[in-house]
Amino acid sequence: MKVVVVGAGLAGLSASRRLVASGVEVEVLEARDRVGGRTLNHVFSDGSIVEVGGQWVGPTQDHALALIDELGLTTFDTYDEGDYIVSLKGKIKKFTGDTFGLPPHVLVEVGISQKRLERMAAKVPLDEPWASPKAAEWDGQTLETWLRQHLRFEQSRDFWRAITAAIFSAEATEISLLHFLFYCHSGGMLDRLMGTAEGAQKSRIVGGSQLISETMANQLGNHLHLNEPVVSISQSDQGVIVRTTQSEYSADAAIVTIPQHLIGAIAFTPPLPTARQQLVQNVPMGAVIKIIATYDTPFWRDDKMSGFGVSLDHPVSITFDNSPPDGRSGMLLGFFEGAHARKASSLSVQERREIFLNTLVDLFGPAAASPNEVVELDWTAEQWSGGCYGGHLGPGVWTQLGEELTRPFGLIEWAGTETAAEWNGYMDGAISSGYLAADRVIAKSRR
Ligand SMILES: Cc1cc2nc3c(=O)[nH]c(=O)nc-3n(C[C@H](O)[C@H](O)[C@H](O)COP(=O)(O)OP(=O)(O)OC[C@H]3O[C@@H](n4cnc5c(N)ncnc54)[C@H](O)[C@@H]3O)c2cc1C
Repeated sequence: MKVVVVGAGLAGLSASRRLVASGVEVEVLEARDRVGGRTLNHVFSDGSIVEVGGQWVGPTQDHALALIDELGLTTFDTYDEGDYIVSLKGKIKKFTGDTFGLPPHVLVEVGISQKRLERMAAKVPLDEPWASPKAAEWDGQTLETWLRQHLRFEQSRDFWRAITAAIFSAEATEISLLHFLFYCHSGGMLDRLMGTAEGAQKSRIVGGSQLISETMANQLGNHLHLNEPVVSISQSDQGVIVRTTQSEYSADAAIVTIPQHLIGAIAFTPPLPTARQQLVQNVPMGAVIKIIATYDTPFWRDDKMSGFGVSLDHPVSITFDNSPPDGRSGMLLGFFEGAHARKASSLSVQERREIFLNTLVDLFGPAAASPNEVVELDWTAEQWSGGCYGGHLGPGVWTQLGEELTRPFGLIEWAGTETAAEWNGYMDGAISSGYLAADRVIAKSRR
């Protein structure tokens, strides 16, 4: 049996690895000149490696953790000692735990609304969110609508708006309430999504997360084809023919692992069913620019600060200590997310750098003004991603078109983190989606 896999990100490479292990012949077609998709390493001049794309793994991300282990890679913990810092209404405050420096009445309302949202999220079946008991009601509104109706204090709403942008790189106005609830459940609820110590930001991969893809790609040899964007896929009783800008590949089946909106740029024969075509027009990517500054030392640690910062006042709304495991240098990482990222995308690299450094100075003091190096990546400008971290669903999409995300189209299976039930949007979701698509192809071939 022969299978063509479209995309050499984590989903495509995990699918390929599983197929190869089952004796299936695989050809992997990748548009970029590299593997890893939304994961990408950057090497600073002192040899330190950072990621300008996805980087953290955490508890319950069992597929990612197992794969890292199988590939002989290791992880280290994100630095998380000392105080956190928040900029709220122009005032900079330190805080510990998960108080975010919010005034008591806001903290109480945020706590109650979190419990309420999580009770609702627990009722969303991960394999079929459209079958939630209140699917129509929840999918008939945005998260913003719900916040306006159920929260009294504007500061509580602002908190959830900022958290939403941090988790989705999209705004509360763009996401269906059902999608928000599904995503929370998919990642093990809000504390896990937001947390460092026991959350999604707990650990990083020694050598950078792109190593996961590079290691899998090495095992594919000449069955991996870079610089080959797929332009068309036709299928018949005889199998599939996948055409790239360079070549043509025949196979018994195909697995397509690319972001939903990019599926719309491929010509399918026969054409995609109506619902599938509508779906690919309705899963926009978030907007994010990731930016990292390096210093001689992690100087904020001397002031007992962890490097984790949240700002409701700056366009860079989240920061983390991103220093290498041996602490040989200091690194601070920040994100422009959602509306901030879209706006910053039209600025020059230099202007974005100034905004980032000004934010760091406000949060961590004047030493932040003079980094050794700064690197950034604007994912909205990446042709083969079109934004990041992932795709999100607006009102009405889960209930009308959600089933199409994983419904096979003839000999074509779909994968990619956007199709995952668990850890949707994360590296873990990408990996499990690849395994699932591979298993389906293998099961079909046995039938
Ligand atoms: C800044 C940033 C921070 C993030 N942080 C984290 C994090 O800390 N932890 C975490 O778990 N996740 C994080 N993520 C998300 C994570 O990186 C993604 O969920 C995951 O990498 C997606 O993998 P994928 O294989 O589903 O998709 P992709 O990585 O998008 O792979 C799809 C591949 O298909 C290729 N492709 C597209 N079109 C075509 C075509 N027509 N023909 C051939 N190839 C094509 C693309 O080039 C790409 O290589 C982050 C992402 C970003 C950008």
